[in-house]
Amino acid sequence: MAVAVRSERLPQQPMVVRVTCTGCGFAKEWRTKGDGSVKDLPTPVPDQVCDHITGLALWLQTPCVCERLWAFNAEHLEFLRGAIGATLRERATFTGWDGAQHIDTYYGRIPAALPTWMKLAKHRDDVLAALDRLEKTLPA
Ligand SMILES: [Zn+2]
Repeated sequence: MAVAVRSERLPQQPMVVRVTCTGCGFAKEWRTKGDGSVKDLPTPVPDQVCDHITGLALWLQTPCVCERLWAFNAEHLEFLRGAIGATLRERATFTGWDGAQHIDTYYGRIPAALPTWMKLAKHRDDVLAALDRLEKTLPA
């Protein structure tokens, strides 16, 4: 697993992404243009979720309910677990056309930016299991 560190995003300044691997000694730097865009768009690894600047495949990714679940890092994993796990505690309800209360398939505390498939109640257990799988691949 290589680690990518990127420089602070300052206005009109190129952003530097430095990738290093302690396992094999791989080390490389990428630099964006001043507006944050990428000079030479990388060729992504087929069938993998890749970083848009380096083109390198993300370490944390796994198939999950016909989609790909991915995260940038351990903090991102924890964020996703908190967002999806929140559904176990708080179920949003809505009043249906018949006046009865129904449990929504989307829950109020899940951030809107997450993809729909991830937020569906029927996928919750699969998503949490996939997050566990990914966490186990991180070095201690
Ligand atoms: Zn390596």
